[in-house]
Amino acid sequence: MPNSAHDKLLFTPGPLTTSLSVKQAMLHDAGSWHFEFNAIVAGIRQRLLALAGTSKEAGFECVLMQGSGSFGVESVLGSVIPPDGRALILTNGAYGDRIVQMARVLRLDHVVLRTAEDTPPTADQVREQLTTQAGITHVIAVHCETTTGILNPIETIGPAAREHGCRFIVDAMSSFGALPIDLDAWGVDYVISSANKCIEGVPGFSFVLARRESLLATEGWARSLCLDLLGQWKGFEKNGQFRYTPPTHALLAFQQALEEWESEGGVTGRGDRYRRNHGILMAGMKALGFQPYLPAEIQSPIITAFRHPGDPRFRFDDFYHRLSDRGMIIYPGKLTQVDTFRIGTIGRLFPADIEQLLSAIRRALQDMGCQLPLQPLQG
Ligand SMILES: *Cc1c(COP(=O)(O)O)cnc(C)c1O
Repeated sequence: MPNSAHDKLLFTPGPLTTSLSVKQAMLHDAGSWHFEFNAIVAGIRQRLLALAGTSKEAGFECVLMQGSGSFGVESVLGSVIPPDGRALILTNGAYGDRIVQMARVLRLDHVVLRTAEDTPPTADQVREQLTTQAGITHVIAVHCETTTGILNPIETIGPAAREHGCRFIVDAMSSFGALPIDLDAWGVDYVISSANKCIEGVPGFSFVLARRESLLATEGWARSLCLDLLGQWKGFEKNGQFRYTPPTHALLAFQQALEEWESEGGVTGRGDRYRRNHGILMAGMKALGFQPYLPAEIQSPIITAFRHPGDPRFRFDDFYHRLSDRGMIIYPGKLTQVDTFRIGTIGRLFPADIEQLLSAIRRALQDMGCQLPLQPLQG
């Protein structure tokens, strides 16, 4: 078996580079119905609530759902909107668009509030939609839109939704655990994230923190058996188990990842490391002449999109392979209008890893014959 110390570093938005101890936690077989495993699942559910600064006593429930993050989002979308409900979906990137696509597939009545990929929606735009569009019951937003790394202002969108009596659903996949989210103050009813983003576990399940009062009102609305959010919650409450086979190894890894998240200092400690990583990346990339796609005020420390430079000798595929040969994996762009590539600063990565990436980038550019510092693309 190859030594995992030689795995390539993942500068991506997930799955991410994980610690050796997280990987080692998976070297066990666990019986999914066994009481020791049920205790682990119960511990994870409780710690996720605590991570978000809440608890059962404070009125929230944690539901784990098999599958990647999108399965968690689709579970919420397909389970908590009544047959006569209507959703307002905010989008400024690929993940917001995926929610719109889910609404179509699920045949949910919905309205889309689209802003440009470099523009966060405002609470006033949401209020305007809620005033002019009849019968909206749910507002759905992405916190950190991982397409660009843009941070959307859920702290003002939630209260606007609440003013109009709407429930508020947040896809916080790539921010949960590293950026603060105040469920009560921001009026969040459902927040969704997954095991393999800022908590630094491995892929296999997603999780939803739900306001109990909202969740319990959704009886009979699920449009799927496997992704039935209330049904899954009832299963956990009944016997502490997933209804169908859980990703046991991913849960063992996640338990270890939560320990490591706590020892690092929780949201503050984890967020600080990501901010340090991001700071070093930005300074280094700017010195090489790269231009970030977003202005700094709306850029998260999670992932950053950079524009392709103007130098005709720069070809992304070539660049990507040269970095891969040096043991580093970056991420292609996903924007509709501009050519970009992305570099993630989350996962088990430290400032020294970012420095190493920056020297590899410099070497790759030199080997490609690009002139440094790079000049921006004209026109
Ligand atoms: C990663 C991510 C998802 C889920 O993607 P999966 O590939 O299903 O894990 C959803 N929304 C956002 C914002 C994400 O970053």
